[in-house]
Amino acid sequence: MKELYTGNLYWPDTLDSTREYAPLRENKKTQVAIIGGGMSGSICASTFINSGLSVLMAERGQVSGGSTSANVGLLHFSNDIMLCDLIDQIGERDAQSFYRACRDAVHLIEKAAESLSEDVGFRRRSSLFFASTEQDLPKLKKEYEALKTCGLDVEYWSPDEIEKHFPFRKPGAIITHGDAEVNPYQFVNGVANAAADAGLEIFEQTDIVAHDTLPSGIHRLRTADGYEIEAEHVVYAVGYEPEELRGKLIKAEMSRSFALVTGIQCNLQSWHERFLVWETARPYLYMRTTLDGRVVLGGLDEHIEQPLHSEKQRQERSEKLHEQLKTLFPELQAPIEFEWSATFGESCDNLPFIGADPAWKNVYYCLGYGGNGTVYSMIAAHIVRDLIFGDKHPLIDIVKLDRKSLTNV
Ligand SMILES: Cc1cc2nc3c(=O)[nH]c(=O)nc-3n(C[C@H](O)[C@H](O)[C@H](O)COP(=O)(O)OP(=O)(O)OC[C@H]3O[C@@H](n4cnc5c(N)ncnc54)[C@H](O)[C@@H]3O)c2cc1C
Repeated sequence: MKELYTGNLYWPDTLDSTREYAPLRENKKTQVAIIGGGMSGSICASTFINSGLSVLMAERGQVSGGSTSANVGLLHFSNDIMLCDLIDQIGERDAQSFYRACRDAVHLIEKAAESLSEDVGFRRRSSLFFASTEQDLPKLKKEYEALKTCGLDVEYWSPDEIEKHFPFRKPGAIITHGDAEVNPYQFVNGVANAAADAGLEIFEQTDIVAHDTLPSGIHRLRTADGYEIEAEHVVYAVGYEPEELRGKLIKAEMSRSFALVTGIQCNLQSWHERFLVWETARPYLYMRTTLDGRVVLGGLDEHIEQPLHSEKQRQERSEKLHEQLKTLFPELQAPIEFEWSATFGESCDNLPFIGADPAWKNVYYCLGYGGNGTVYSMIAAHIVRDLIFGDKHPLIDIVKLDRKSLTNV
């Protein structure tokens, strides 16, 4: 089992208790077996159950205990790869379809959150995406035009307009409307629990250690405790632990990111409408607020897969992030209360890995690598559901594992 984060996470502290699910202690048969109980596994499970399938979800630890709990909960329709670059990479029609699907996925996440009996911190927010330097301005303006042409709800703000709304000045910014924030831990627990109430079988502490196919085409999974699951379809929603996937299908680039949560700020009025904030620099700084008035921010990504162990070095990174916050919002002086370092996965073409195994029938992957992982999880659930039902989802060729943009990697 990979160590996915180190430090002191914030989100698990926001739930008094979580429902516990017993480990698998007998052999099982199901239509769909999902491996992994994080954001991707839970959204898939809920989508499949709501489509009338019989579904089992096996999680080697606890539901929502993987990278999902290190996520900072920003939901954008914009992606790590700008639309203008994605157009160059895959053509205008596909790039626009992908961006619109991300916008629609935020709406689906909203509907999923609204269907839950508890508030999981989903709130619609607009985003400020600012140019970090003057040099980034031409690209930012090009991106604004691309987003507008795509029909997305965007504005362009000059330095004066930025300064009118925030206590800082930047060379320019795109404002995107239709984004959102969520508490990822509460959301995934809520989605999984609701799906369990609707018939999903969840097994925690259930590590899948082997997978083969019977002559009949049925898949057989074996748990570390020696029990077997027979399934017509198997979905790998294993997050940043793709090593156990067959062959070298997942050409991922792993790094680590740093995040912190401050204490409750007594003065958030200068934070215009609680916008989500990020920038053009790479790696980028990303920021949001919480419903109880904290600030969550992250960044300083490093090309090292393992999360940082040394508490002292982690504190140094957190202090650096905190300084960036105080430079932008000098009046926000509440101290750091939570900080962590976590593994983060990306693909070389900045698109997630979603779809069927090209050489193993009825095996699928839902790996929402990238800063927009939650949005990708929602898209993945719908693509894989369509594959299971034999339908063709419009995005499938863009994100499939054997897509052209990955072939030379
Ligand atoms: C610092 C940081 C900030 C982020 N911020 C954002 C953000 O603002 N917005 C956003 O959308 N995304 C963000 N992300 C990305 C987001 O966290 C991920 O995309 C998402 O949580 C991944 O969900 P997942 O279900 O794919 O993975 P996970 O949550 O890791 O779930 C995978 C699960 O599979 C289980 N598993 C693996 N192998 C097996 C096995 N063999 N048997 C049984 N179980 C197994 C693991 O135990 C794990 O629980 C961020 C990530 C990081 C690190």
